[in-house]
Amino acid sequence: MDIYEQITKMADEMSGDLTTQRRDFHKFAEKGWFEMRTSSIIARRLTDMGFDEVLVGDQVCKKEARMGVPSDEELEAQYERAVAQGADPEFVPFTKGGMTGVVGILHCGEGPTVAMRFDIDALGVIEEKDASHRPANEGFGSVNEGFMHACGHDGHATIGLGVAKVLMSIRESLHGTVKLIFQPAEEGVRGAKAIVENGHLDGVNYLIGSHVSDKDAADPAAVIPGSYGSLATSKYDVTFRGLSAHAGGSPELGKNVMLAVATSILNLYAIPRHSGGISRINVGTVAAGSGRNVIADEAHMEIEVRGETTEVNKFVEDYALSILENSAKMHGCTCETKLMGAAYSLASDEALINRIKTVCEEHLHLPVAKEINSKNGGSEDVSYMMRRVQEQGGQATFMRVLTKESAPGHNRRFDFDEQVLPNAVKIFCGTVYDIMK
Ligand SMILES: [Zn+2]
Ligand SMILES: [Zn+2]
Repeated sequence: MDIYEQITKMADEMSGDLTTQRRDFHKFAEKGWFEMRTSSIIARRLTDMGFDEVLVGDQVCKKEARMGVPSDEELEAQYERAVAQGADPEFVPFTKGGMTGVVGILHCGEGPTVAMRFDIDALGVIEEKDASHRPANEGFGSVNEGFMHACGHDGHATIGLGVAKVLMSIRESLHGTVKLIFQPAEEGVRGAKAIVENGHLDGVNYLIGSHVSDKDAADPAAVIPGSYGSLATSKYDVTFRGLSAHAGGSPELGKNVMLAVATSILNLYAIPRHSGGISRINVGTVAAGSGRNVIADEAHMEIEVRGETTEVNKFVEDYALSILENSAKMHGCTCETKLMGAAYSLASDEALINRIKTVCEEHLHLPVAKEINSKNGGSEDVSYMMRRVQEQGGQATFMRVLTKESAPGHNRRFDFDEQVLPNAVKIFCGTVYDIMK
């Protein structure tokens, strides 16, 4: 039996365990920076497997580079919850304050460094409780009301653990360094930057990330090896401050943030198009004012911009920041902006896409989609890691591992066919072996 056959056999044999693990992560869904139970379990498993290095706590994310971190009170409450829900007692203390995520490293002598990225966070979605939704019917629906794995990252974390186990068992056949990155807070594109800033992608020659994706029922393809075109994005929380006054008695004494907010919204949507590609802008929320007869003195807005390229995104972002600042000024108010999430646009490397295609077709006997490089919607912060690897001359790709999904991503009825778990383990491990053999 050659190594590819060994990988296939092992992945098929662990199929039941992968499903069990995925359902556990699904049931105890944890939103970004709250993945305390999840991270502690991942660290436990990698340690038990005998990984050379298991990095946790502030060794994973650079503390001050994390974006969109919840309040200390929320983090503390979620820590208590994680402990009560069976977090690993040895590793959970490292996650305190939202220091989630895990990096596992295997040193296998001289050779390239191959990194893989698995995101582990859930979303702020209330999961469907009707029995027609399989997780509810089979008892693994989220017990954490308001948190749900509606994007499949429960599967991604599980695939990472499966990959760890298989690579451990074939480590004698590998030459180089394997790095498994279990990334927190992908939703809202908040986590990858903090991992890159801790230097984990420095010196990496190959990076592979993946996402589960709905398959066409008539098409047997198991994977799309590459992707491009996911939008670069920047997300901001905005606070306007003015001065309150009596709306009837002395309105001239007030500095009205309502006017600053209204001026800025209309002008944000009036930012010109860019010849370099498509762009987006959205003002998602506004909260302002304290009463009918009071000149409003404080307002909060959540906005985001997106661009087809990193440059187009930067154009809209700079324009938006200028509008916010000047809209405040026009009405005697001040404006503060805080970056809450960001991602670059991404493009997979052709050489790596072709390698995955060959490995799947010739060695793993898994069908590859006709279109081997597909356009992505939305935004993905794996782009931060890909860009770091690519700017050092390395190769990176973001694959789509295909499966039957019950509803679109981020929907309360989302679920997927778990056959994708062993398949993805095979694709990752077959490719890593092909690079490091
Ligand atoms: Zn998502
Ligand atoms: Zn996702």
